[in-house]
Amino acid sequence: MTHTAPPRVRFAPSPTGWLHVGNARTALYNWLFARHHGGTFILRIEDTDLDRSTADSAVGILESMRWLGLDWDEGPEAGGTCGPYRQSERLALYQAAALRLLEQGQAYHCFCTPEQLEADRQEALAHGRPPQYVGRCARLAAAEVAHRRAQGPGAIRFRVPREEVVVDDLIRGRVTFPAGEFGDFVILRTNGIPSYNFAVVVDDHAMGISHVIRGEDHLSNTPKQVFLYRALGYPPPAFAHLSMILGPDGTRLSKRHGATSVQQFMELGYLPEALLNYLALLGWSPGDDREVMPLEELTASFTLDRVSRSASTFDPGKLSWMNGVYLRTVPTARLFSLCRPFLTREPAVGPPGEVLHESYLLAVVELVKNHAHFLTDLPTLVAPYVRPTVTPTPEAEPYLHTEEARNIFRALSSRLEDRPPLNREEFVSMLKQVGKTLGLSGKNLFMPVRAALSGETHGPDLDRLYLTLGPVRAVDRLRRAAGEPPPR
Ligand code: GLU
Repeated sequence: MTHTAPPRVRFAPSPTGWLHVGNARTALYNWLFARHHGGTFILRIEDTDLDRSTADSAVGILESMRWLGLDWDEGPEAGGTCGPYRQSERLALYQAAALRLLEQGQAYHCFCTPEQLEADRQEALAHGRPPQYVGRCARLAAAEVAHRRAQGPGAIRFRVPREEVVVDDLIRGRVTFPAGEFGDFVILRTNGIPSYNFAVVVDDHAMGISHVIRGEDHLSNTPKQVFLYRALGYPPPAFAHLSMILGPDGTRLSKRHGATSVQQFMELGYLPEALLNYLALLGWSPGDDREVMPLEELTASFTLDRVSRSASTFDPGKLSWMNGVYLRTVPTARLFSLCRPFLTREPAVGPPGEVLHESYLLAVVELVKNHAHFLTDLPTLVAPYVRPTVTPTPEAEPYLHTEEARNIFRALSSRLEDRPPLNREEFVSMLKQVGKTLGLSGKNLFMPVRAALSGETHGPDLDRLYLTLGPVRAVDRLRRAAGEPPPR
């Protein structure tokens, strides 16, 4: 760490859609960096693109951040001393900074019309020149400026020094941007809205940002920002540009490759901890072969010097694998709260009928969770145990309709009825006793019992099945399978 004070970092999404996993990774790396070094993680909404920003998108991004568990110390809803944290509410700050640059002669009013600018661009392209601002308004006399302004406001353009810029990026190393690669650019539009490069510099300074950690797509903006820092007399932050995330075909990860937003992964039944763990490893490694690393472990290990310089390929198969790992290891109570929205889509759990106690549902989730790969698998896995009666699968059906099977059901249900619940060992031994009495064992004994209790031919061990269902449900199911009226 070059900075001795605790770092202040920010995640600065533009609310123009759902939170893309690439941006979620940027948010995560900022969060991990802040938490690892005891710093501050700031969330700033960059909503100055009036045509593309929406309030819904901003709400969605905050929701996705919360779902991921990436809490922010300062930002919308959290507050903080550097607010407001939405750029649309900070316009006066950008205007004041632009005015200062005007006064210093480092910016000027530009009255060129969009048509003129487009014609300049075409002309440059036709002559094989890079399309840069031609400087038409760069040297207008003060009287001319006053006269034009009286007719209507213009944009404000930054006077770009014709110098090379060298940036020591914490990930990319030394990057040199030759002089003259871009022309004077707009910092404040005619409508008073700042351009991205300007707003970001004013805000990163005002918010005391020490490290700018963001996607490599912003590397080319960095020299513009460095010039602005110098012109405004602000010390620049450290920069760290993260490599891109590619789809399996080697192009930048996009909708064409399938699910790419945090929202989509949430709806597909991924666990936030699995997605976070997967994203953490997409461009960073702990330096050993650890892969399953919960957030606390990631926080303890995360440093920028282990962030990769090369692009990473998004591997949905590995993410699914990671999801399975977390499904099997997160505490059942947490799993239950995560799968609740999916469970209520299961008619047996959702609509009124038998009131299912939460503790029972929790026990059922515990019973079946090892068979799930996604949260969306749980409703189907849970269903056999929450439906009022068993709906046998076609494979289970034959096990239910033999005389032998009915004998088992009758013998077992009458032994289980009207006695205190059995523990695991007592149940196993009772089952064996019934088998002995009827001269049945193994598959011939267990399959009918399984089919009667769950309607399936595979699933959790029978003793766990009995313990989860409890004696009342178990007896009810056995009696129904025996063709006897249910008890009571
Ligand atoms: N608002 C920018 C984006 O969403 C982020 C800019 C930055 O991190 O500097 O890409």
